[in-house]
Amino acid sequence: MECRLCGCPSTHKHGKAPNGSQRYFCPQCQQTFNERFDTMYYHRHVSEEQIRQVLQAHSEGRSLRGISRTSILAYNTAVSLVRAAAQLVHNAQVQAVQTEAVSGDELWPFVAKNKGSIGAPGRWR
Ligand SMILES: [Zn+2]
Repeated sequence: MECRLCGCPSTHKHGKAPNGSQRYFCPQCQQTFNERFDTMYYHRHVSEEQIRQVLQAHSEGRSLRGISRTSILAYNTAVSLVRAAAQLVHNAQVQAVQTEAVSGDELWPFVAKNKGSIGAPGRWR
């Protein structure tokens, strides 16, 4: 399996997680990950069907409190699932952008805290 973190093709099996999913170790970045990494199921105890129901109800305009009541999931779990789904869509869209330069305007207040580390704000490659 290809490393989900660095893309290295030569990962190897590294035991199983308590939930039974296969863990992998990457010799290049020295990290472990499992097959659910970067999916809606990573670090969650909800079923595929529960996630489908929450997202279906949300897309039909139901309130998150209403979804939480009918799905017997905690309100924060319903919110977290909807946010995670939105993040996956966002990530896929951002990765699909073909560009050589990025504008980091919103990033600058964060970078500016690290005084002297980077030159002028704005655009860099
Ligand atoms: Zn790696």
